[in-house]
Amino acid sequence: MAILEIVKDPAEVLRKKAKPVTKINAAVRKLLDDMTETMYAAPGVGLAAPQVGVSKRIIVVDPQDGSGQLYQLINPEITKAEGWVQGTEGCLSIPGMVGDVWRYEKVQVVALDRTGKKVWIDAEGWLARIFQHEIDHLDGILYTDKCTDLRPVPQGEEEAEEAAQARAEAERADEAGAADAAAAGVEAEVAGEASATGADADQAAEPAAAAAGAKRTRRRTAAKADAGAAKGE
Ligand SMILES: [Zn+2]
Repeated sequence: MAILEIVKDPAEVLRKKAKPVTKINAAVRKLLDDMTETMYAAPGVGLAAPQVGVSKRIIVVDPQDGSGQLYQLINPEITKAEGWVQGTEGCLSIPGMVGDVWRYEKVQVVALDRTGKKVWIDAEGWLARIFQHEIDHLDGILYTDKCTDLRPVPQGEEEAEEAAQARAEAERADEAGAADAAAAGVEAEVAGEASATGADADQAAEPAAAAAGAKRTRRRTAAKADAGAAKGE
């Protein structure tokens, strides 16, 4: 295995539509392994082949949510999607920045695994977001194409914000005489990054517009994504 160089925006390869893999051979499996090592080293929660300069439809994802699940997918497609939720994302190819992106809350991803077997994955929340972000990469789409409030994230800002939030919750809990809430607020939620439906990106624009007026949901989801963002994808 080897750690590969992650290409940064505005590299041309990030804007190309990646080619489907037609033959799953040793070279493809080596690429999957190298991408996995590169993702962990970054660290990030997902990586698409164009991000290591290879214009092929290959992604690796590990939400690092305690599930211990690593996905190494070839020719992934989103075949079902529902719900609509905003969250904060970053990208290993756009270091130091985050933005807020509307994504499907649940998706079904169909792909081939490293042995060429067809797999179906039902994902929701954080994992669904990562898949959408990564699959967008395969269509030359970056999260910055669809995000709002693109902003720099100094290292550690998110943790500081979480800590402040936890303290505020703790104070309220103390006042209420319920100390438990404090502990809940303190949990460090650090994950990685996210992705988007290339094919469905156009459709996505409509619900996005509809949802634009909606207030921001899931503060905590956003915080997670930020942390991931800091790590990148
Ligand atoms: Zn990315």
